[in-house]
Amino acid sequence: MLAETIFFCGLTTTNYFSCILSVSYDYFGANSAMAILKVLNFPDPRLRAKALPVEKIDSKVKEIAGNMLDIMYAKNGIGLAATQVNIQQRIVVIDLSEEKNEPLILINPKITKLVGSGTMREGCLSVPDYYDIIERAEYIEFCYKTLDDEVITSNADGLLAVCIQHEIDHLDGKLFIDYLSLLKRQRLKKKIDKQEKLQQKTL
Ligand SMILES: [Zn+2]
Repeated sequence: MLAETIFFCGLTTTNYFSCILSVSYDYFGANSAMAILKVLNFPDPRLRAKALPVEKIDSKVKEIAGNMLDIMYAKNGIGLAATQVNIQQRIVVIDLSEEKNEPLILINPKITKLVGSGTMREGCLSVPDYYDIIERAEYIEFCYKTLDDEVITSNADGLLAVCIQHEIDHLDGKLFIDYLSLLKRQRLKKKIDKQEKLQQKTL
């Protein structure tokens, strides 16, 4: 009788703990976007989705923007679009400062004017270890909403202009490598396929 009781208690304890663990996991999964945000890598088809405008800037949108900044800083990036973390909403975060303390959060950003053209070497958190020269407008005028629901119109040139164009492209399902020649894209695809095969072999 005693042995049975101990056995029963042991089972209950195990079940109790596994139940607690799954409750905690569900809790974080449902309430903390950070727990599940992950940067998608090319050629993931979800990078081709077109993001929808943010209808209302609520606490959830603020949490997403905060989590996006955390991920961008953790990966040493200077810009990140929500599409890259599989959130199909028009949210972009940028920080070009050396100290990483000047975050720019753009809700529903839109370019209203493109002027001139220039080239810059670009990279992307969704296309790791690849950089190439891309031609884009040199000067832009743009508008966006802040997290305080304020509409801002502004202009930019240099790196900020390039960065905003690059991130808004993401929201439209476009990647910087789409501007490359077919030959370069094919070479890149081959390189990525090779890396994936190598990774599968080592798993
Ligand atoms: Zn990018």
